[in-house]
Amino acid sequence: MTLSRIAEEIKPSGTIKISTKVKSMAREGISVIGFGMGEPDFNTPKNIADAAIKAIKDGFTKYTPTSGILELREAICEKLLGDNGLKYSPTQVVVSSGAKQVTHNLILVLCDSGDEVIIPSPYWVSYPEQVKMAGARPVYVQGTDETGFKVTPESLKEAITPRTKVLLLNSPGNPTGVVYTEEELRTLAGIAVEKGIYVISDEIYEKIIYDGIKHASPASFGDEFMNRVITVNGFSKAYAMTGWRLGYAAGPENVIKATIRLQDHTTSCANSIAQKAAVEALRGDQTTVGLMVAEFDKRRRYIVERLSKLEGISCIMPKGAFYVFPNVTGLYRLGIAGTNVSDSTKLVDLLIEKARVAFVPGVCFGSDDHIRISFATNMNQIEEGMDRLEELLTS
Ligand code: PMP
Ligand code: GLU
Repeated sequence: MTLSRIAEEIKPSGTIKISTKVKSMAREGISVIGFGMGEPDFNTPKNIADAAIKAIKDGFTKYTPTSGILELREAICEKLLGDNGLKYSPTQVVVSSGAKQVTHNLILVLCDSGDEVIIPSPYWVSYPEQVKMAGARPVYVQGTDETGFKVTPESLKEAITPRTKVLLLNSPGNPTGVVYTEEELRTLAGIAVEKGIYVISDEIYEKIIYDGIKHASPASFGDEFMNRVITVNGFSKAYAMTGWRLGYAAGPENVIKATIRLQDHTTSCANSIAQKAAVEALRGDQTTVGLMVAEFDKRRRYIVERLSKLEGISCIMPKGAFYVFPNVTGLYRLGIAGTNVSDSTKLVDLLIEKARVAFVPGVCFGSDDHIRISFATNMNQIEEGMDRLEELLTS
């Protein structure tokens, strides 16, 4: 008896695979410095954790409406208006168990079998698999080192066919740290909107942005954008709340209502306690967000400086998120300590084995010429990891 099409087709998550490997090696007593998971090393801020404790003590432990508690959807509307210039009502917002569930649900309600979803590449590991789960087809538009990993309007136009249903945008982006300017986003999203294509704008790294760059939300560019763009965001990154599993979408009411119907039959509401904590995250003191971003910024500069001294590695300074995505084709040419490597999976395996540092192969994100280094880990670990890498590469 065979398993389903989905079971046969879906690849394991490269990011989760690496972090599981690091954890299991640690259990065996092997010290590996993990640069795999995109998970802030900070604790969830105390005011947010306290709100959750209060929710438990108050007995706020029952199912909530599938869409999320009104108080949280109102807080999300306030946030979207204040930060992003987006005017939504709570009926246009759905809260889910992580932004990952949000994008999955949206793709399921927007795409039929055979529809096409345009994904700028390099991309976050889960987009293509989510598209395939819906029976739709991922269509990649390539960004390169030369374009700072940005896709051009021309390449986007070329990728559009009569079957194109969705364009996925992710700025600031995982895995490259790319941040599109407002103008660029207006052009790219505008191309899609003009053709009636939906845009899923994954803005989960919105707050993790450097050099004073301003984040822009495509839905804010005008009414025609509001009708076609669905804005996705979450709490995992800005508030160090990965384990709480909470994300949300805001968009046209018919799309949001459909995702709520879908969620009615899958996970129902997101965790009630986490929802109360999320209200505090949005309405409470925001100081910790800035402190975390300042720390990420220090690490970003440090890693890029260390990497730039290594022969065979070239690296663009990320403008947002907490990843660097160095080009490692020089290492394929040079070899490592006498061993030839020709792809990102073998390179990552070799670096785990010989240097005890764990990165994620670029192939998981659509480029075998790169590896992803997450700097959502503390400075001591980063220094030690970079020392280990340098030692191996210069040996
Ligand atoms: N989008 C992007 C681009 C991500 O990197 C991630 C991973 N954290 C998510 C969505 C999902 O985040 P979460 O499910 O933790 O809210
Ligand atoms: N999104 C994070 C990452 O890219 C967390 C892992 C995941 O959800 O894939 O590492």
